[in-house]
Amino acid sequence: MRLTFLGTGTSQGVPIVGCSCEVCLSEDYRDKRLRTSAFLETGDVNILLDAGPDLRQQLLRNHIVRINALLVTHEHKDHIGGIDDIRPINFLMKETMHIYGLKRVLNIISKDYDYAFNSYKYPGVPNLKLMPIFDEPFTIQGIEIVPVIVRHLNLPILGYRIGNLGYITDASFIADKEKRFSF
Ligand SMILES: [Zn+2]
Ligand SMILES: [Zn+2]
Repeated sequence: MRLTFLGTGTSQGVPIVGCSCEVCLSEDYRDKRLRTSAFLETGDVNILLDAGPDLRQQLLRNHIVRINALLVTHEHKDHIGGIDDIRPINFLMKETMHIYGLKRVLNIISKDYDYAFNSYKYPGVPNLKLMPIFDEPFTIQGIEIVPVIVRHLNLPILGYRIGNLGYITDASFIADKEKRFSF
């Protein structure tokens, strides 16, 4: 199993447009951070964790051409703003991208990308299928995914446990009940 951090920046990325703080003006490559996303390779299965507005650049610079599923943590734009850039993966794989997330989050995705879900599909729109997650583990091509509810300030969002890996972003609180999934 291999996890690649595609981005570890804040919701605006680092540097922030127009900011003249020391970090934003830094020449250090570690101060150039794209929006938060990660790519998990396990066996033959490739899973993308969140698809923010930097997705195109992240796919290009990591040479990612195959994604079997997208797991979304929550609906903020820095986590779903790049879903249109799934299109080349659709074309390459000739498959529908399955997007997993909370029902609330998938509803927002279906509004934001309504053109991908209309009964008449304009040619070339992303080919997406929304897969609601309930409060129980599920599998993607034989890989067990355990959803973990965490709080992002007051918003319940998802983290994921996959094998020995835990992926949690934007969280400020984890209830004891969810720690049943800890190691
Ligand atoms: Zn700054
Ligand atoms: Zn957020």
